[in-house]
Amino acid sequence: MGIIAKGAKCNVIGCDKDGLRSLTTSKVEGTGLSISGVGKKTALCKEHYKEWKKATKDERDVERARYDRF
Ligand SMILES: [Zn+2]
Repeated sequence: MGIIAKGAKCNVIGCDKDGLRSLTTSKVEGTGLSISGVGKKTALCKEHYKEWKKATKDERDVERARYDRF
């Protein structure tokens, strides 16, 4: 916990809005959002959090696509 409290910015590449939510980075990877390397936690702004939520509705498809690649 805590990266949002420290005023983290959204970790999506090209976005410098204030972070609204922090998520486990592995949950953000594979959802179509391009995030810069930030360790275990990723901060998302309101807009990107919404995108992430939308993307996770298709999470099973995303997971399958990722496994297919290997
Ligand atoms: Zn953002």
